Amino acid sequence: MNAPLEPLIYDISRPGRTGFSLPDLDVPETPIPAEFERNPELLGLPEVSELDVVRHFTHLSRLNHAIDAGFYPLGSCTMKYNPKLNEDVARLPGFNWIHPLQPEDTVQGALRVQYELQNLLAEIAGFDATTLQPAAGAQGELVGVLTIRAYHQGRGDTQRTKILVPDAAHGTNPATAAMCGFKVVTIKSDARGNVDLEHLAKMVGPDTAGLMLTNPNTLGLFDEHLTEITDIVHKAGGLMYGDGANFNAILGIVKPGEVGFDVMHINLHKTFSTPHGGGGPGSGPVVAKSHLVPYLPTPVVVKETKDGQDHFSLLKVPETVGKLRSFWGNFGMHVRAYTYIRVHGARGLRDISENAVLNANYIMNKLKDTYDLPYDRPCMHECVLSGRKQKQKYGVKTLDIAKRLLDFGYHSPTIYFPHIVEEAIMIEPTETESKTTMDEFIDTMLQIAREAEENPDLVKNAPYTTPVLRLDEATAARKPELRYRCFG
Ligand SMILES: *Cc1c(COP(=O)(O)O)cnc(C)c1O
Repeated sequence: MNAPLEPLIYDISRPGRTGFSLPDLDVPETPIPAEFERNPELLGLPEVSELDVVRHFTHLSRLNHAIDAGFYPLGSCTMKYNPKLNEDVARLPGFNWIHPLQPEDTVQGALRVQYELQNLLAEIAGFDATTLQPAAGAQGELVGVLTIRAYHQGRGDTQRTKILVPDAAHGTNPATAAMCGFKVVTIKSDARGNVDLEHLAKMVGPDTAGLMLTNPNTLGLFDEHLTEITDIVHKAGGLMYGDGANFNAILGIVKPGEVGFDVMHINLHKTFSTPHGGGGPGSGPVVAKSHLVPYLPTPVVVKETKDGQDHFSLLKVPETVGKLRSFWGNFGMHVRAYTYIRVHGARGLRDISENAVLNANYIMNKLKDTYDLPYDRPCMHECVLSGRKQKQKYGVKTLDIAKRLLDFGYHSPTIYFPHIVEEAIMIEPTETESKTTMDEFIDTMLQIAREAEENPDLVKNAPYTTPVLRLDEATAARKPELRYRCFG
């Protein structure tokens, strides 16, 4: 049985209540033309006081879990703390109140931030140029694969119709390749969780446009044959696309552009601490090596220096794959990521990754005797455990364990991904969590394992404390109810 739903704002409406006050009219009253008039009864707007509204939305905000409310170890998503300083800077009037159609001369500061962020991201990742246009990682993938396609076509090389994607990849990778008109070829993983080199060598050929590789991969493992992989693909004439969603593991340690990647996206809302998901919008800049730079989406910000005076402008890229996003991209995210990078500096960025990797290994080692660890070697910034022991022995599935965690105030880890791990539980603590928080989480995971053994029904019927209990997730996804109908 689900707990009753929170009342909707329409339910707390009472005739005659208002929540606004307007100053006296100081201009002549003009009647609203008939075609613009609305019938208040048909509109059905709720009648509520200011306090009603504040309480209503405060209640709603408490129904969601958030990084500011508690631990959020959602693997692959890098749910790290979003420093409030980023928010302060993004709200400075000079950033917050400008309009994308303002003349360039009046927004030089904003363009400077974009220009410097382009350079910082290219430097951190080891590439030659950056586009800040894409609105998310998935859109960055689209940009990257479009540049790969444009590159081959630009050389008259039209036989390259296939993109190789390892079986551990995020679903956006094959989806992107297919959207760009390529045939997707799946490459197997080997027993240590690396790309299977033999299988790769068999599948690569003159029809290979490129390989999309996430490194560290979605098992949280750094591929031990990275150089061999990039060599095999390059020798066949293909290009290497880097899915940079896991960049948080290697900041200041590995520059993907220097170890064989031709183009890569970066998720500012993961690695660089800008808000995520429902708190979005996101931002997925793409960094590219020089041979792909001519195809980047337009515009990019360029700098000219005359008489010691810097001038920034938006440049159309000549052979661009086009425009991916309105205006300048999600500018507010750029300001936040820029702030984060400048606050940390080079050494601070390296600390981020070292601590993220340390935290994940700590959790993995504390839990690996209780939950199965399919690939038993040091992990990077996240670890992938399996609930198959609990399922086989006690009939408690990974889904049940994830639901039970909600009763203890945690967001669940990512589950059933990557697909190649049975009953996968993918935990990413990030560097921003303290040992205290991780210890409490570890204790909770151990307690749930004990419950699974001693009282499996307790876990199978969880959660007990959330506003809604078990949802029919398939129906919720396929037939979402997105609209409140006030008239039946
Ligand atoms: C998050 C993620 C993506 C997609 O990024 P979005 O910003 O959510 O579009 C792609 N690949 C991996 C491995 C990811 O974790």
